[in-house]
Formats: sequence, structure tokens, C-alpha cells
Amino acid sequence: MFYICGHKNPDTDSIVSVIVMKDYFQKLGEKVKAIRIGKINKETEFVLQQAKIKPPAMVKSLAKKQVFLVDHNEFEQAGNGIEKAEIIGVLDHHRLSGDIKTAFPIYFHVEPVGCTATLIFKLFQEKNFALNKNSAFLLLSAILSDTLKFNSPTTTKEDIKIAKKLAEICKTNINKLAEKMFKAKSDISGINIGDLILMDFKKYDEKNISFGIGVCETVLPEPILEKKQEILKLLPQIKKQKKIDLIFFAVVDIIKQQSYLFVVSEKERSVAEKGFNKKTKDDLVFLPKIVSRKKQIAPGIIKVL
Ligand code: MN
Ligand code: MN
Repeated sequence: MFYICGHKNPDTDSIVSVIVMKDYFQKLGEKVKAIRIGKINKETEFVLQQAKIKPPAMVKSLAKKQVFLVDHNEFEQAGNGIEKAEIIGVLDHHRLSGDIKTAFPIYFHVEPVGCTATLIFKLFQEKNFALNKNSAFLLLSAILSDTLKFNSPTTTKEDIKIAKKLAEICKTNINKLAEKMFKAKSDISGINIGDLILMDFKKYDEKNISFGIGVCETVLPEPILEKKQEILKLLPQIKKQKKIDLIFFAVVDIIKQQSYLFVVSEKERSVAEKGFNKKTKDDLVFLPKIVSRKKQIAPGIIKVL
């Protein structure tokens, strides 16, 4: 038996991929368990409710387990105990970190598409496996989430083509679903600001400099921007906790396709200003047309380091 697992601070793609890949492996006659290593966000909660599906089981440690990783391939993004786990496969669409070393050859499938769910659709097609309405709905939701309804520069023609096929299978209107998902994602009621910064947070190590980027994708940036003083107070604390040299937090406006990057000290400010060729105003660097951490924000920072 092996476990299928997505990344820390799971997003819709990480959760959905685990659920649908479980179905895929079961069709292949494998014994598998779908798991997660973090709390479900409000967008994913909405998607699972619509599909009437329970979230994968929460697991605290991956040590001594056989795991198949979806939607990530670096230890920083993986669950506790990953160093002591046996990784038996990877299905992903992120850059390679080079973390994974194995004793035996493993299944390793990475493509530069906008979403892991896109690759899962292709796996089903390859094997001629039927995709039920519910799975199609889940995969479609993941594509809309990861690509910000095809607006992120990570989107490929394949993501769009497959999303449209999925929408037909599950008889779902893409625009209406995306609108509801983004509204659910933007609901920050009951979430404290510290958790909001860490809800979608990734750590990087480049040229011996470690940094973290928190991202909050929303259709309603104002209520978050209004908490600026609190955010600026918390960022140095999180930086200390996470033992990183630099910390950034971006509020991404999904509708207007632009971001606000919080810079907390002189170091972050100089990196951000050089990386994006923009001036800081009131501790914020305004980034027009920038929405993707993977393709725009992280590379902009790495370029300067
Ligand atoms: Mn993800
Ligand atoms: Mn993804």
C-alpha cells in the first residue's frame, strides 16, 4: 500500500489531484490511500462541498511510508518525515529542486503545464479510463484555481483545451464556477492575518540566500490592504520563525490582474525594486500584470540574488 500526497498548505490542485489519482491507481489495481498534510482552504472546501466529497485523511508524518507525490517535488513543500519516506513516484508541474534521490528508478512525470490536474486528465486518456462527472468537476476546479481561470502566465493551450473538455463532461459553466471559487477563496472572515500570510507560503534557497513568499489571491484586495500595519508587524516575526533572510507577501488581485508586494525592510525593498523595476510606495511595491509567484514573482526576486 502506498500514500498519495500533495504539498504543505494544500491548494485545490494538491487536494483534488490526490483524490483523483487514488481513483486512477485503484483502476490499475493498486492499494492506495489519499492523504493530506495541512488544513483545507476555503476555496477547496467549497469545491469539495459541491462535489459532495470528503477531504483526504490528514497525516502528521510521512516517515517510513511509501509515498507518491503530486503537485510538488521539493522537500521544503513536502510533509514532515519526507527524508525518511520512500518516494515511489512524482506527478508535478513545478521546477525541479533536485531534492529527491532514490535507491531505485521511480515514476517521475513533470510537464510545464498550468496544473497537475491537466496531467491527470492525460493519464486517464492514455489508459482509456472513463472520468466520472465528479472527478471531471474536481479536475476542472483545480485548473481554474491554478491558472486563475486561464489568466496566469503559467496557463498553456493544453490546460484550456482540457478544462473545456472537463466542463463538458461535468456540465459546468466555467465562468460561473470560477466566480464562486474565487469568492470562496477571498473570504478572509475568521482567518487571522498571520495565518493568511502563511496560507500559501513557499520557501526558497538561492545562492545561499533563503527567502519566503506568501501569496494571497483574492477578488477583494482592499480588506487585506487595510490590514497593512498588522501585516508589516507580523512579517519580521515570521521571517525570524522561519529562519529566512528575506520575506515577501503578495496580495494578488485576480480581477484586475495585478499585485501588491509588501516589503518589510531595506533588504527586501532593494531586491523588489531591482527585480521588478518599480519604486516602493508606503511599504508596497505595486506590480501591474503580475499574478504568478512561480513564473513572475519568484523569478523576479531570484534574478536579483
Ligand atoms: Mn499547488
Ligand atoms: Mn498545481
